[in-house]
Amino acid sequence: MYKHTFNRHKTRIVQVGNVAIGGDNPVVVQSMTTPDTSNIAAVLAEIHRLEEAGCELVRVTVPKPEDAAVLSEIKKRIKIPLIVDIHFDHKMALAALDHPIDKLRINPGNLGGMDRFRTVLKKAKDKGVPMRIGVNAGSLEREFAMKYGYPCPPAMVDSALRYIEIAESVGYRDMIVSLKSSDVLTAVEAYRMYAKQANYPTHIGITEAGKAPYAVTKSACGLAPLLLDGIGDTIRISLLGDPVPEIAAAFDILQATQRRVRKPELIACPTCGRLEIDLEKIIAELEDRLKGRTTAIKISVLGCVVNGPGEAREADLGIAAGGGKGMIFKRGEKLYTIPESEMVDALMKEIDLWEEEERAAGRLKTGAPTLKVDSREDDHHDEGVQEITNGRVGLPLLK
Ligand code: SF4
Repeated sequence: MYKHTFNRHKTRIVQVGNVAIGGDNPVVVQSMTTPDTSNIAAVLAEIHRLEEAGCELVRVTVPKPEDAAVLSEIKKRIKIPLIVDIHFDHKMALAALDHPIDKLRINPGNLGGMDRFRTVLKKAKDKGVPMRIGVNAGSLEREFAMKYGYPCPPAMVDSALRYIEIAESVGYRDMIVSLKSSDVLTAVEAYRMYAKQANYPTHIGITEAGKAPYAVTKSACGLAPLLLDGIGDTIRISLLGDPVPEIAAAFDILQATQRRVRKPELIACPTCGRLEIDLEKIIAELEDRLKGRTTAIKISVLGCVVNGPGEAREADLGIAAGGGKGMIFKRGEKLYTIPESEMVDALMKEIDLWEEEERAAGRLKTGAPTLKVDSREDDHHDEGVQEITNGRVGLPLLK
C-alpha cells in the first residue's frame, strides 16, 4: 500500500502547566482573551467559554499593574494553563512571575534592551516558568530589519536565534518560538527556515488575520503548509472579535491536515444535477448524530454512482447512492443495499460496529498522541520521520 511520508520537526518538550508542548505530543490549541485583564469577571467568563469550546491554553495580556494583580485569582478559577502576554514593560513580566502563571509570552525586541530580557529570563528560570519568544514581523528590532532592508524571513529567524542564544547563555531552555507575520508567505518561509536551525517547539499562527471567514481561510493557507511539513507544536488562529470560534477553526485545520484527528471525517460531494438522494438532509442528520464522537473514522456519502463507489471503497464506511437507494461499503467491501430513508440509521449502526471491531483489534485508542514520531538518524538532524498510511488504515490516533 502506498504510504505518505511525514516529517515532523523534532523539538524538545516544554511543559506548560499540565500540557506538554513539542516532541511527539499533539499540537495544542490556544487562544487569547479580549477584555481588559483587570476586569476579572469578564475575563473569567470568556475563559470559561473558551474551555467549553476545547481551548487548551489561554493567554491574557498584562500591560499594567492592576492586570498583574489579578493573575492569581484568574489562575485559581480556570482549568487550563494560563499564559501571560507582555510587551514593552519588563516590570510587568517580573510582576506576573510573582503569580502562579504557567507561561510568559514576550517579544524580547520590545522590552527596551537585552539586559531587561536577561532579568526576565533569570526570574523565569528561578520560578520554573516557560516562555514564548514571540518574534513578529511588524515589530522586528531595527537592527535585524536593517540588515536585510526589511522584516523578511531571514531577519525574523536571525532575531529569534539571537534571543535563543541569549536565553541559553543564562541557562534558560524552556522556550517556545513564534515567527509571526500577517503575510502568509513571510510566515511560512520564516518557520521553515527556523525549523532547519533550531529545535525549540513552535507556536504557529498567521497574526492579525482579520475577520472571519476570510481570516480562517488565510490562516489555513499559512498553517497548512507548515503543519504538513511537520512544523507547529501549538497553534492559534487569530480572529477579530470573539475568540471562541478560533477553537473550532484550529481543530478543523488540524483535522484536515491530519495532524490531530478528533472527530469522524465526513466525505460528501457538493451535489450536482446527477444527485439521486437528498444528500444535504442526510449529511445534516449524520453530523447531528455524530456530535461529540471522537472516533477517527472516514465516512463517505456521495450522491450518485459517478464517484460514490470509488470513494465508499476508500473510506472506512461509505454509501454509494443511486436511484433512491444506497450500497453500504465497509473497509472497501460491499455489505448491503438500503433505501434512502434508512441510510442514516444503517450508517450509525455500522459506525458502532466498526468502533467495536477496531477497539477489539487494538486500533481504536483514544488519548494517544497523533502521528507518533519514529525518529531515525538521517542527514537532517532536526527532524524525526513518521509515516502515515493512505486511506482507511492510517488515520492518526485520537487525542
Ligand atoms: S457524486 Fe454524483 S451527485 Fe455528487 S457531485 Fe459527483 S456527479 Fe454530482
